[in-house]
Formats: sequence, C-alpha cells, structure tokens
Amino acid sequence: MDFEKIKKQENKYYMPMFNRANICFTHGKGNRLYDTAGKEYVDFTAGIAVNCLGYGYPPLVEAVASQAQKLIHISNLYYNEPQSQLAEALIESSIFSRVFFSNSGAEANECAIKLARKYYVKKGIPNKHRILCAVDSFHGRTLATCTATGQDKYSAPFAPLPEGFSHVPYNDFAALKDALTDDVGAVMLEPIQGESGVVCASYDYLVNVYALCKQKGVLLILDEVQTGVGRTGKRYCFEHYGIQPDIVTLAKGLAGGVPIGATLARGEVAESFAYGDHGSTFGGNPLACAAALAVNEKISDPDFIARVESAGQRLQDRLMELRKYKFVADVRGKGLMRGLQLSDKVKNAEVIGRMREKGFLVASAGRNTLRFVPPLTITEEEIDAMAKQLGEIFANTNV
Ligand SMILES: *Cc1c(COP(=O)(O)O)cnc(C)c1O
Repeated sequence: MDFEKIKKQENKYYMPMFNRANICFTHGKGNRLYDTAGKEYVDFTAGIAVNCLGYGYPPLVEAVASQAQKLIHISNLYYNEPQSQLAEALIESSIFSRVFFSNSGAEANECAIKLARKYYVKKGIPNKHRILCAVDSFHGRTLATCTATGQDKYSAPFAPLPEGFSHVPYNDFAALKDALTDDVGAVMLEPIQGESGVVCASYDYLVNVYALCKQKGVLLILDEVQTGVGRTGKRYCFEHYGIQPDIVTLAKGLAGGVPIGATLARGEVAESFAYGDHGSTFGGNPLACAAALAVNEKISDPDFIARVESAGQRLQDRLMELRKYKFVADVRGKGLMRGLQLSDKVKNAEVIGRMREKGFLVASAGRNTLRFVPPLTITEEEIDAMAKQLGEIFANTNV
C-alpha cells in the first residue's frame, strides 16, 4: 500500500474535517496496530475507546464473519434474531427495561432526548421540555446533540439551533440546583467527561444530582457512550456511584468496532414511545448486533471486568509516578479511561507525536490532556512499556 497515494486521494476528495496523524494502518493483532510501512504500534487509543477487545479477537471476528454470511441488513420491517437476543442480554443484565438500537453515540443521545420529551408529552406536561446539560460536555454532532454539548465551537456555526438546552458548570451541584427551573424535564450528564479531558463527576456531585432529580421528578440521562461497556472497570460507570439513571446511552465499545448505538430506559419512561415515534433504517441490524453479542459475552465475565479494574489501577499508578515532572498537572480517570493533563508549557500534540515515533498511540483530549483509552485487553507489560516511554520523553523535555 502506498501511503503517499492514500494521503493525496484523501486531500483531494474528502471533506477537510480531520487533522489526521501522518499515518495509515493496514491491520491489527491483539493490542497492536501495523502501518503501511509495517511499523508496529501499541494502541492506547482503541479507535477512541471503541475497539474494546483489540484487533482480530477470534470470537468477535467469527461472529461478524458468520453473520455476514447469513444476513447483514434486513431493516426494522421484520423481526431479527441477533437484535432481539442483544436486547434481552442488555436488559436482563441491567436495571433497565427496554432498549432501542441506533448506529452511533450521537444517535443514541438524540433518541434519549426525544424519549425524555415524549415522556412529558404523554404525561400531558409538554412544557417540561428543557434538558439541562453541563459546560464542557460532549454528546455528539447532530444538531440536537451538538446543542446539548456544552462547547460553543461545536454548535455556534450551525445556528439556528434547537431550543430547550441549558448548560451549567460540571461538578457544581449548587449551580445545577439553581438552574432546575420548572421547564426542566431532564438532566443529561457524562459520568466522566471524556472529550473535554477525562474529568470525573465527583461522587458527591452525581449522588446529589441523582437525589435531586428523584425528588423533583426530573429524569436523569447519563451519556455512557464512552464510559459504558466495562471501560471504567464496571459494566456501567454509574455503578461506581450506586445510582440508577432513568436513561443511559451506549455506543463506542458496544460492538467492538462495528457501528452501533443503544438507548436504554427504565420504568415509565421506557414506555414513552409509541409506534412510529422514532426509527432507524440501519439501527439494530443483524451484523452490528451479532458483534455486540460477542462483546457482551466477554463483558459479562466478572474476571474480565475485574482485570479491567486492576489494569486501570496499574495505568493510574504508572501515570502518577510521572507527576514528579512539574509540567504534569493532573492525572484523572477510572478503569481504563485515564487522562494526564500537561501544563501549558508542554503541548500534548507534541508528546503524542513523539510517542507515535516510538511506537505508542495515545489520543488527545481537551485541557491539553493525553487520553489513554486502550483496548480492555491491554496487558500490564504494555502499560509499563508505554509509561516507561512516556517517562523518557518527559525526562528529555526541557521546560
Ligand atoms: C464519542 C461520544 C459521543 C458521540 O458518539 P458518535 O458515535 O461519534 O456519534 C457522544 N457522547 C460521548 C460521551 C462520546 O464520548
């Protein structure tokens, strides 16, 4: 494969949307990726927290290949066995009572917003339409979800925007309580803000928000598109907080790399949609659902989840050791979702570039942060090797 040719093609024909690294991968195996020059990389990005079982994981490859032989797509005009099996698997293992499948995180959130609004319409109080979101949140790129996103850069150029979204500072319970006017029907939060720098909701904050929502009869929507599917060392991140959201959304890791989104709801809100209220041509297609069933099998193994927790702790410990460098401003996260924030003197993009040269892929996030979201199968040796390399780069950084 000719890298320069691929790059030229893309520059000419693709919309200039992404500031891509100068690299193109041809294949992967386990937690490693290989580029067009045959160079090997240990992957701490996992396609942005998507490839939770790494590359070429046999049960996932087998599930996709054998489903592709049978049926890839059938539409929602007909019943579909992988879809109904996945729905059962997700619901029976959770506090939720119904699920709807789509194709991405944004779509899963879009569905959550529509579900919340329909809940109040059905109850006869349609003016409870407002969704309270957090500053610096990220919920997707559709018009409603980029408006829900608490970062103007994602929505301002696309005005006029949908109405009924407000934003309050994250981890500030008093501000949220003040903003909970009578027209607010739902609070929508990420338990860990991923895109804006791996910022965890404090325990007290989320527990207080949950209690307030319950007391006021306001729905709590948790966007677990990035934190779900075992990423934080629990199946759902909200389990760390002992709370029960009304609606939760999943996507990234759910089918190990095949596009899928899921919106799960419990209680009365789960019964809010009627025939025709929402829909999706591709959503819940047999291929994506067969892949998600293979992932779910692994995620349902308590030993596997326990290992995510211990590997995550090791990653945290290794990153904490780097706090001896004064320009390491903070280390945050849960499980295998970690962020290392740098002071303004050191640019995260430069560190990421140098790590790539050394064969380690790390992602960026807001607040000049390095984001570590490896496959959940990442080994202790790979974690140690990555941290050692990062330490060498830091040791050679003169500030
Ligand atoms: C990635 C992400 C989204 C958007 O998912 P897409 O699949 O890109 O639409 C939404 N919310 C959170 C928390 C995310 O991390």
